[in-house]
Amino acid sequence: MSSSSKGSHLIRYYSKLIEVYIQLSLYEEAEATATRVLTVDPSNLTVRLKRGHSRRRIGHYVGALVDFETVLSIPPKLDTAQVLHHDEALRQRDIVINTLGCSYAELTRTHPIKIEEYNRPALSHISLTSNEEKPITQVFLDEPLPTNCRFYNHLGCRRGKKCLFSHAPDTRSIRDDLGKNVCLYHLIGKCKWDSFSCIYSHSKDNLPSEYIIDEDTSKPSWWTDSARVKVVRELVEQRDARRKKIHEQSERARQQNTDRNKSKKKKKKKNDSDDKPPPNASPDKVPPPDSFSSTNSNCDETLVFDWESESNSDEELEFEDVESTSSDILSYGNKPWEHEEDKALVVALDDLHT
Ligand SMILES: [Zn+2]
Ligand SMILES: [Zn+2]
Repeated sequence: MSSSSKGSHLIRYYSKLIEVYIQLSLYEEAEATATRVLTVDPSNLTVRLKRGHSRRRIGHYVGALVDFETVLSIPPKLDTAQVLHHDEALRQRDIVINTLGCSYAELTRTHPIKIEEYNRPALSHISLTSNEEKPITQVFLDEPLPTNCRFYNHLGCRRGKKCLFSHAPDTRSIRDDLGKNVCLYHLIGKCKWDSFSCIYSHSKDNLPSEYIIDEDTSKPSWWTDSARVKVVRELVEQRDARRKKIHEQSERARQQNTDRNKSKKKKKKKNDSDDKPPPNASPDKVPPPDSFSSTNSNCDETLVFDWESESNSDEELEFEDVESTSSDILSYGNKPWEHEEDKALVVALDDLHT
């Protein structure tokens, strides 16, 4: 593993840790961890934004404002997650300015040293713009989850650790005693593939014994008990619906950014030459229907980065419910960095079991 990829792994790890701290309301820990990450990667705007968020929650409004202003000082690349960061920084900055009752410009004039302290580790604009590589924030947001290895789940994969596909269980599968990942959708009767085509195993034979209720083989085992399977099916459907919604929201935000970009270009082109026909007239650019036109106005663009939004009632509900219902444990992993949700699933299933 090269040192830079190792570095980006560590940054991902710490970024995740900050996330967890924020979710647990441990804002001081989140802030300290963010500062550590920024020491090695001062251009990481995601982490800087999270630090600002944590500072705001602690009540360090000046520090928060400094972080938001720093994030806002870098023009976002269109069509990337940076646009969403930018919007989120704007939103939170306005809250802070409202609370403080004075502008950033005033503060830099009256408390220049304080501002400089809060800005450490300072973002170097030069290193950011001269860097040809993709910024790390973008790398980790764009990185898709690895696809599960079909060979591994069927006859066995000979590539072992070198395999480019994942051998680990994921949210769509359950690990059996042979180490194969069994298709969750097959277990709930919803897989559209046959046992040969599905990338997961369709064999129920080696499912872990905790799913067998009784030694008595005449009784149904976990996955043949239709009542239990029905409950799991509902949970999975809820989870998938929630993910779909989040996916659609981020797609919509992306689409809007693209549209903005296109219309800018269009205007520019039109100014350049008026006799050319306008580039791609736009039937395909209409944003999707507002099917989930939400209960709160700022939800559609910020939801993806609203780590624990005070305005999003849906999310609050999720946090409150998390201890009592297994459905929320199951659906908890709707973030792109959740690799190990199968564990949550096992917990959820245990819950149902009792
Ligand atoms: Zn493999
Ligand atoms: Zn399947």
